[in-house]
Amino acid sequence: MSQSSKDSTPHDIPPEVNPNRTDDLWALTKEGYIIAEEIACQTEYISEQSCPNCGHTPLRTMAQINRAFQGLNELVTRCTNCHETYGFIFDISNAVYQAWWAERMGVMYTRLYDGAPRQVDPNQRYFR
Ligand SMILES: [Zn+2]
Repeated sequence: MSQSSKDSTPHDIPPEVNPNRTDDLWALTKEGYIIAEEIACQTEYISEQSCPNCGHTPLRTMAQINRAFQGLNELVTRCTNCHETYGFIFDISNAVYQAWWAERMGVMYTRLYDGAPRQVDPNQRYFR
């Protein structure tokens, strides 16, 4: 696993960004979920999407559905042009996310999802 090429020293990275992002960021799991490695990358991902219906950018996040007990986080978005809604489901069961979260939470950390971490689907590795 290689790290992101982002040229930052750790103290410049905001707390919602994982300094240990990997190339698996935003890859898809076999279940079709988007790999998230911390909180910030999810809104970053949304900001790069355009509406499949009308092609408009940006999509606005309307709601967050906490599915941590499933190792998932869902963001519901709406196109600001045609008002179509889209849901994006992020995988937070992966080891990179959980290690980052555990480090942030310290003794408060509890793992809500007790299944095995989901793996990147190598066949959907280069989805962008
Ligand atoms: Zn649209």
